[in-house]
Amino acid sequence: MIREMIDDSPPHSGARRTQRQAWSDSLIDSEISPPSGLPGGASHLECTLCGAEYTSERLRGLSDCCSRPLYARYDLAGLRGKVSRESLRSRSSDLWRYAELLPVRDPENAIRLGEGWTPNIDTPRLASRLGVRRVWVKDEGQNPTASFKARGLCLAVSRARELGVTEVALPSAGNAGSATAAYAAAAGLKAHLVMPVDTPPAIIQEARALGADIELIDGLINACAARVAEGARRFGWFDLSTLKEPYRVEGKKTMGYEVAEQLGWRLPDVIVYPTGGGTGLVGMWKAFDEMQALGWIGPHRPRMVSVQAAGCAPIVRAWEQGTDFAEPWQDAHTYASGLRVPGAVGDFLILRAIRESHGAAVAVSDAAMERWTGELGRLTGIFAAPEGAATAAAVPLLLERGVIRPDDEVLLFNTGSGLKYVR
Ligand SMILES: *Cc1c(COP(=O)(O)O)cnc(C)c1O
Ligand SMILES: [Zn+2]
Repeated sequence: MIREMIDDSPPHSGARRTQRQAWSDSLIDSEISPPSGLPGGASHLECTLCGAEYTSERLRGLSDCCSRPLYARYDLAGLRGKVSRESLRSRSSDLWRYAELLPVRDPENAIRLGEGWTPNIDTPRLASRLGVRRVWVKDEGQNPTASFKARGLCLAVSRARELGVTEVALPSAGNAGSATAAYAAAAGLKAHLVMPVDTPPAIIQEARALGADIELIDGLINACAARVAEGARRFGWFDLSTLKEPYRVEGKKTMGYEVAEQLGWRLPDVIVYPTGGGTGLVGMWKAFDEMQALGWIGPHRPRMVSVQAAGCAPIVRAWEQGTDFAEPWQDAHTYASGLRVPGAVGDFLILRAIRESHGAAVAVSDAAMERWTGELGRLTGIFAAPEGAATAAAVPLLLERGVIRPDDEVLLFNTGSGLKYVR
């Protein structure tokens, strides 16, 4: 099945490759990014819990077998040798530079707003304040719609449209809503967003300006999810909830590819990631395995650290108790809306990555996030989202516990811009 699908490339893909070659040649004097002209596509989908395989050529939500996330799998053995690290050099400065490792089959279906290839900023003043040899901040606030949600929704919307979807829907208390609105607008799809009334107002206004149909609900995210499920049943909306369809994680995994490529094909000692649904953390973990299978990196892995808000820390609690799955958190509260996720369907994937990498999970208070937004801003020039500031706030705790050592190289994820949270 795998081989059939790889060989099933569109008849004109050869011509595209030639055009692409011409672009790379002209790059030398023009320095203009070439259009993405590379065919991609998964070989199949796989249940993350039991390993059952499904075709990737039909729309899917959670796995039929276990109601757990599906992962896209690629013919990595076939791609090894065909796609080299060197061949990436002349490619476009966005996440489509990894097209062969992405699920969109026809390059014409890639929706592009400038997502990915965000700067990985060396922050020596922050490093010395924290007492760590080196600290990078990967500034995801520079993505379209000012958060890393753009990566996931770019891929999910592109692939949904490729498979014939015309209306998408999402329950969201934050940045995923405006990212969905943006990619749906660019793709010409209708976006239905169901958001809690206390979603940051900048995000609601942004999503409205981007043409989404918005319903505000006086309740929590699970009430919003129920409304979306109803719309999916009654009107055929396609539900883009985190890890409930297979392709948002494919967009988020590109952070793992970028970290390696931007550091010259090595990885930091520690990656600190603010965790809600955990898509980025498990996505990067998947990317590391793929890159090793491609021969791009060796077996070294960073210690993966999950940071959550003290008012909503199901992963931290499960990590401390040593369980494989996380119980949902009651009465979740934090102003870091991206971290207000009481139950994650990919909980076991997050916990497994933390454990296998010898990482950790820690909680920080909202007050600490606020304080560190200021520290980070003054020491780096980056106005971080509270979720991003949470990663810096976690470093002193991690040093105390020996998860980070003073001579480590540490990478913090600033997952969004602080501007989205201004009231
Ligand atoms: C959604 C979000 C997060 C959490 O991301 P997950 O991949 O769901 O864990 C962190 N920070 C910001 C700014 C977000 O919007
Ligand atoms: Zn299964």
